[in-house]
Amino acid sequence: MEPLFEPIFTPEQLAEIKAYYLPHYIRSAVSPLVTLALLAFLLGGLNRPFYQGAQALASWMGRRGAFLRTAPVSRILVRAMDRLWGEPGWGTALLFALFIDLFSKVLYAPSDVYFDYLLEHRHGMSAHTPLTYAVDTFKSWSISAVAAATMVLGLYGLARRLRNWWLVLGVPVALLMLVSAAIDPYRKRVYFDQTPLEAGPLRTRITGLMARADIAFADVTVEKTSVASKRVQAYFAGQGPTRTIVLNDVLLKEFTEDEILAAVAHEAGHVNEPQWPGRIAAACCLVGLLFVIDRLLRLAAARRWFGTTQFADIRTLPLLSVLFFLLMTTAKPVSGAFSREREREADRYALRLTGDTATFRQMLVKAARVNKMDPEPPRWVILKGMSHPPIGERVAALPGP
Ligand SMILES: [Zn+2]
Repeated sequence: MEPLFEPIFTPEQLAEIKAYYLPHYIRSAVSPLVTLALLAFLLGGLNRPFYQGAQALASWMGRRGAFLRTAPVSRILVRAMDRLWGEPGWGTALLFALFIDLFSKVLYAPSDVYFDYLLEHRHGMSAHTPLTYAVDTFKSWSISAVAAATMVLGLYGLARRLRNWWLVLGVPVALLMLVSAAIDPYRKRVYFDQTPLEAGPLRTRITGLMARADIAFADVTVEKTSVASKRVQAYFAGQGPTRTIVLNDVLLKEFTEDEILAAVAHEAGHVNEPQWPGRIAAACCLVGLLFVIDRLLRLAAARRWFGTTQFADIRTLPLLSVLFFLLMTTAKPVSGAFSREREREADRYALRLTGDTATFRQMLVKAARVNKMDPEPPRWVILKGMSHPPIGERVAALPGP
């Protein structure tokens, strides 16, 4: 009997895709062990030299920059930092955090270049030039350095000042998390240009589809990701008055109007998902995590781990990384399972909305081909936390003709 549909890939294409994914799967298997080894090395071997280095550099900078304590504008800044930290020594803490951040970035850089640049180019998935890749890396390293500095000053600074710092910090940050989805549309603009989709049949049809789905949106924009990647992508960012339908320029080039509509219909399926249970759970987890950190910091101070002399000593920072790592590693299979179920439901929603299974199948198959998705990844890779069901499973789940 002839198969009902042609397979997603020819045997040659499938072989290439398997060759593309094999290094990813190997990395996925070994990276938890590598990360744990790195953290152990940080805690056991590098903590002391990094701390001493940070102390020496901070005092050198303090001597060199003594005039900043009296200069008009910087004087206010320095005094604010002194007050926030409660005592001198914030310079050492800041530099220690930056050392650690930079150290792990440099250590992972060869693997990052291999996976994000070389392997992507070998399989024709990347449009980066060495320069644009370097610029994007610089942007993400800078963002991560600022985040590390903010976390250190916020968490350690408050922990030193207030007994119930974990509540004082946790509650507002949790509330911020609840509303942060509203600033979503602007986050990715750090990397890619976005322009409104020009008026025309596609825009009219998307507007009509959203009207039938009863979903309000602010705009449809085109994200110019083709400067970096050959992949197609569509997503909704923000919500309510800030909701933006984002299509990338590769999608507009590769997909027919009908296929783009099918992709938008899938994304629309995510809009009506109950958002609050997940958000409230995340906010509660954050406050709980900060409480655990508080207990851990008290224990470290009482036992004088890593040469710490007082509560919330910056030398406990790698210990918090271990905590984050363990939490993420155990949470990912669970959140992945929930996410895959939401994706299945969004597929079903899209079929109900458009009533066009054939085009939806075509859209999935094309996305798989353009993005070179492994139709059948190993079971353990899925269970470890894949956000989407394998494309083979999604196509197979569609109702027959
Ligand atoms: Zn989805």
